[in-house]
Amino acid sequence: MIYPWLQQAFERFQQGPPPQALLVSGPRGIGISVFAQQLVQGLFCEHPTTNRSGCGSCSPCHWIMAGSHPDFRLLEPESAGAPGAETPRSGVVEENRSASGSVWITVDAVRSLNDFLVLSTHRTGYRVVLIDPADALNPSAANALLKVLEEPRQGTLFILVSERATRIPATIRSRCQHWKLGLPSPRLALAWLESQAISNAEHWLALAGQAPLEAQRLALQDQGERRAWLEAFTGGQLTLIQLSEQTAKLPLPEWLNWLQRWVFDLIEFKSWGQVRYHLAFSAQVARMSERFSLQELLAWEISLREGRRLMQHPLNPRLLAEQLLLPCYLSR
Ligand SMILES: [Zn+2]
Repeated sequence: MIYPWLQQAFERFQQGPPPQALLVSGPRGIGISVFAQQLVQGLFCEHPTTNRSGCGSCSPCHWIMAGSHPDFRLLEPESAGAPGAETPRSGVVEENRSASGSVWITVDAVRSLNDFLVLSTHRTGYRVVLIDPADALNPSAANALLKVLEEPRQGTLFILVSERATRIPATIRSRCQHWKLGLPSPRLALAWLESQAISNAEHWLALAGQAPLEAQRLALQDQGERRAWLEAFTGGQLTLIQLSEQTAKLPLPEWLNWLQRWVFDLIEFKSWGQVRYHLAFSAQVARMSERFSLQELLAWEISLREGRRLMQHPLNPRLLAEQLLLPCYLSR
């Protein structure tokens, strides 16, 4: 699936013969690494989809994804594939690349291309080298690459990917066709986030500086934290002090939103037998609402609204959390 904001660029690539060297740059969080891999898959796939992107299930697609296609080489920083490295090459996490300059693509990696580049190709006649991120080439690796780029070979394609293209030596950039991909329009980004079942998409998109994949990452991370807290809260294993201590480590204004929605659901369930926000916790909402009268729930809701005023600069986050959670413990 090509991200909708990159569709046009993808089609442009399909239209002409591929350039000998292509530099794809753009801000973090729009998916340029995934895009570059899709360009490669599109070249090798045995059953391309209607827009000629890779099917993702034929052998060549699998080989590209695993980095083992005989006509394909991936150059990436040495630690990128290592356990615990911060640059895993798939999905959302992939966009969460570390800005660390301590991992480099070395001159040996570039030199290792020499044999590859003189072999005849196995299948489609193309030979592709993907360099991601290209700003991780150290100076001697960049020099070695420049020599390679100065001797174009028929059917050989270099794709360089970078979120910081100005860090790539100008001599290399000038040898590439440079595609600068930008942020999508808010409308397109919002529609995509909603299609991914991200609620409150506008909020996350603003927080991510309009980069949709970054917005998705932030939203999913929040879901993880929120879920863990809800499980602790509804599990009934923790004392008020223990739960308040755990709560005080969270961003409190955000946490208050969670608790307010929870109490809203308790009121909604008490009144109409319905749950609006916590469908995955319906049983817990039902059970907890039984412990309260409607008046008690409304009073709790008011105390949360008053608590909001104290949220920005709480003198003691744990005490504030304790105060706001107290009604739940009194009802036991
Ligand atoms: Zn395929």
